[in-house]
Amino acid sequence: MSSNQSHKHRDTLSFRLPLWYALIFTLTSLLALSIFYYCISQITMGNTDDELLEELNEIYVLMQEGGVDQVTVEIVLEAESEGNGIFYRLLTNDGVVLKAINMENYGNVAVSEAALEGLRGNEKYVIETLKIPEHGYDVRVIYGAISPTIVFNMGLSLKDNYKYLGIFRNLIILLLIPLFFIAAFIGWFLARHALKGVEDVTQTAIKISNGAIDKRVDVKSRFYEIDRLANTFNGMLDRIQSLINGMQEMNDNVAHDLRSPLTRIRGLAEITLIGKKSIEDYSEMAASTIEECDKLIAIINTMLDITETESGVSLFQSEPLDIVELIVSACELFDPIAKEKEVRLTTVLPDRLIIQGDKSKLQRLVTNLLENAIKYNRQGGTVTISVKQENQLVNLQVEDTGLGIPEEELPHIFERFYRCDRSRSQAGIGLGLSLAKAIVKAFGGEIRVQSTLNQGSLFTVSFLIDSKRTLK
Ligand code: ADP
Repeated sequence: MSSNQSHKHRDTLSFRLPLWYALIFTLTSLLALSIFYYCISQITMGNTDDELLEELNEIYVLMQEGGVDQVTVEIVLEAESEGNGIFYRLLTNDGVVLKAINMENYGNVAVSEAALEGLRGNEKYVIETLKIPEHGYDVRVIYGAISPTIVFNMGLSLKDNYKYLGIFRNLIILLLIPLFFIAAFIGWFLARHALKGVEDVTQTAIKISNGAIDKRVDVKSRFYEIDRLANTFNGMLDRIQSLINGMQEMNDNVAHDLRSPLTRIRGLAEITLIGKKSIEDYSEMAASTIEECDKLIAIINTMLDITETESGVSLFQSEPLDIVELIVSACELFDPIAKEKEVRLTTVLPDRLIIQGDKSKLQRLVTNLLENAIKYNRQGGTVTISVKQENQLVNLQVEDTGLGIPEEELPHIFERFYRCDRSRSQAGIGLGLSLAKAIVKAFGGEIRVQSTLNQGSLFTVSFLIDSKRTLK
């Protein structure tokens, strides 16, 4: 493995997670075992002290019953049976040594003045720990008065205690090493299991970046978080794919819809050039070219408007405006066209209704719906535009008595460039409702349509009075 690869490996979560897990687990175990070790050492020290006290009591009783001689015999015998691990002394109150047994192993350590002082101060006994280099181990020592004039002094080597605790210490260290590796293994196993899902997502992302856009991550119900990641990732891919498909479809549509006017312009120019035409024919060609160019410009502008509205690039103003006034102005604008088609324009409006919104976008929305209602109406038909407020909700309706829309075509009318078969005789580019839908969506509202063939259609736009909030 190159140094770069090993460096990368050290940065991986599957390496670091087990390592951290093992370290924390080992340190916690060390702490627990240390507390345990401390308790054990305290208990063994307590046992030693109990032993010293028991001996002091025995000697005290013996002193009362048999005097110093009896005590001397007893301690000589005990020293013989215990060996080097013990020393005895009998002292006067002032610290003069009357009898000493086994002291040569303890460097004839001096009598503790502080301990004698304690006894003189009415303490029953004094226990202390001595460091005796000649002995090599610490010694626990007791001083206690066994008669008004004699002090019993005894020392117990802590050699056995320390050996016992030493073994325990080594055991702890020996235990920690395998514990670290076992914890690292468990951590590695858990991390591998948990990261398997992440690895699946990565592998799918790699396949997708290599071109397999239809690939998805398998959701295997392993862990909630991983499943959620996989589902979110798949959802994101679905959305991207549908966007790509939409863009592809739009490209096809744009290409198709731009090609027709361009072909017509070219055809006209060609015919005019080939035949020997008069100046009137050239004027007619120029007029037709302008008309076709206007159509092209309208397509391009509306496409740009839709894209900007959908992407949120064009900023939405949020100003208080009277929607009733806006509708009345739109009706005045369309009145001549309606009259020309012999369509009656009626309104059902309150005196005023102030909402928060973007005036120019709302104007586009209302004029698009109104224009369609007139355009796809029959001679002598009616268009009714109404608006009303219900609590925080504003409902705008445009109803006509025209062609109507076949049921199977209803789901498509908001798609870009979609035009119903029956209405193709009318001028139009199939983008008006797409723009209307984009505006309503950016407004946080919704647009619905109900239609009966040959009877008419009803478009309803619902949005909240304060357009900063969304309906859903
Ligand atoms: P355009 O009107 O330019 O064709 P739109 O996007 O405004 O494009 O409308 C899409 C299609 O929906 C229209 O071509 C028409 O077939 C149908 N449509 C829209 N409004 C109405 C209506 N009020 N009555 C009948 N059909 C309609």
